[in-house]
Amino acid sequence: MDITRSISDLRRRVAEWRAAGERVGLVPTMGALHAGHMALAAAARKNCRRTVASIFVNPKQFGPREDFSTYPRPEADDLAKLTEAGTDLAFIPTVEEMYPEGFATTISVTGPSEGLCGAHRPGHFDGVATIVAKLLIQASPDAAFFGEKDYQQLMVVRRMVRDLNLPVEIIGVPTVREPDGLALSSRNVYLSLEERGLAPHLHRALREAAAAIAAGTAPGTVLQRAIAELNALGVRVEYLELCDAASLAPLAATPTAPARLLAAVHLGRTRLIDNLAVATT
Ligand code: AMP
Repeated sequence: MDITRSISDLRRRVAEWRAAGERVGLVPTMGALHAGHMALAAAARKNCRRTVASIFVNPKQFGPREDFSTYPRPEADDLAKLTEAGTDLAFIPTVEEMYPEGFATTISVTGPSEGLCGAHRPGHFDGVATIVAKLLIQASPDAAFFGEKDYQQLMVVRRMVRDLNLPVEIIGVPTVREPDGLALSSRNVYLSLEERGLAPHLHRALREAAAAIAAGTAPGTVLQRAIAELNALGVRVEYLELCDAASLAPLAATPTAPARLLAAVHLGRTRLIDNLAVATT
């Protein structure tokens, strides 16, 4: 696997592959790679002749009181995992390479970015859209791979790509979970032993709520009950909502089109998110 920290090098390498007619896949990450990221790398490898993974802890998507400075950065481990996954090129730019002095552009997607995490993390999806746009334009992949774990992010990226006619296919990859249901996340390392014990309640609550809604119980009742249960267990709910699966508009009635439950919770100082599809009739 080759490693580069420069945009011009990234462009040159991808241009060579594309000139040779090889399909190129991009996997954007913030590093601290786990089996969820590896599922993206494997999907890219399967779908594309050449794969690029980026590792960039993007300051623009962190709020002032969030964990940018303490976010884990185990670069040597990450490189070993990407090599193992058969990635061709790791792109690991510095903050200065991506945001040189005087950088003044923001990509702002409305619609799917507005509720849920967007309402609780002001500026987060502007930061995501800006860095993903930059990565997609510079790497010019045929396909880019994003996890359903960050479902709202995936919908924001899809909308941006559609609105800007970016010539890339966005491929969503199902969430990889621990055996007890907890979605893998680089932030799970922050959990104390006790918090780690409570964390699977989030996925369990989502599964039970999804089943109750699919069985016809009024969504309002189901959500209220799930929120009260989680809070009582000490899993503090930031939001738990039923939304249209594509637009992420909130749904009050039993869904008839694809719908999704999305949640964010706090366990101590750690914020966890998860989501689940709701079966519709
Ligand atoms: P991050 O490094 O957290 O920015 O994540 C990079 C990519 O990996 C994003 O597209 C995430 O949605 C995806 N990802 C993170 N965790 C998981 C998981 N447990 N399962 C599948 N994809 C994931």
